[in-house]
Amino acid sequence: MARLEVRGLTHCYGAKTAQRVTAVKNISLCVEEGELLGIIGHTGSGKSTLIQHFNGLLSPTSGEVLLDGENIFRDKQTTHAARFRVGLCFQYPEYQLFEETVYKDIAFGPRNMKLSEEEIDRRVRRAASFVGLSDALLEKSPFDLSGGEKRRAAIAGVMAMEPEILVLDEPTAGLDPQGRGTILSLIADYRRRTGSTVILVSHSMEDIAKLATKALVMNHAEAALYGTVDEVFSQAEQLVSMGLDVPAVTRIFLLLREKGLPVRTDVYTVEQGAAEYLRLFGKGARV
Ligand code: ADP
Ligand code: MG
Repeated sequence: MARLEVRGLTHCYGAKTAQRVTAVKNISLCVEEGELLGIIGHTGSGKSTLIQHFNGLLSPTSGEVLLDGENIFRDKQTTHAARFRVGLCFQYPEYQLFEETVYKDIAFGPRNMKLSEEEIDRRVRRAASFVGLSDALLEKSPFDLSGGEKRRAAIAGVMAMEPEILVLDEPTAGLDPQGRGTILSLIADYRRRTGSTVILVSHSMEDIAKLATKALVMNHAEAALYGTVDEVFSQAEQLVSMGLDVPAVTRIFLLLREKGLPVRTDVYTVEQGAAEYLRLFGKGARV
């Protein structure tokens, strides 16, 4: 059974007003235990609206959200439980840091779960280790941290709830390339170490190509493409036509195809690019 299943989900804002906006239209998806689903799309395509249904923060105008086969809107209790089972880390989560110390901020979620002090402490330290924050940093004020550290502290706050599914809304937004790299590798590590199911929203195809097993491409509230990363990235031309920034290595192979070379265009990692280069130009070629 799928860990998370979404069936025909539609969400309209201001449904009964003249300013009615259909932000998500008839989306279906399925995420198995341990998978990483990447959700990609331009600003305004409905990504944030969609993911806020996964923990019951928003309820659908129509359609269903199921966790382990159970509709999370079945009753109040089930909806409430979904808040903890699915950990949602908002875009720019550092704006929500407000405690005196980083430790207290990370402890905020577990404390809401009414856990013992001992268990809270275990979770805070474990989450801090996932995001690479030292014990010394835990005692500082969140306002004394760098931008990247603040972001990591906020992500640790959600990890400390030890959710079955971790959902991250554009966790690399606004960071420099080094900060982005740090966040992406900590997400990969977290997944390796915990075996957790992760959903990652990003407008960077490059990020998704590196980490995801499955991908959903949203365009104007709808699912433009959905499938395994291989299936989605093999549609490079369609991705480009939607104005999405396909990985640089994919662009190179699209250009080579345009020049008339018989290359594959479903190349999206540097390793695949190197293999395709060798296939074309032979073992004697230098990569
Ligand atoms: P994304 O995360 O992909 O940028 P959003 O889900 O934030 O997309 O937005 C999808 C659409 O819904 C946009 O047209 C946006 O303006 C609209 N929208 C988002 N939040 C609200 C809201 N609270 N009220 C009304 N419209 C909203
Ligand atoms: Mg968004």
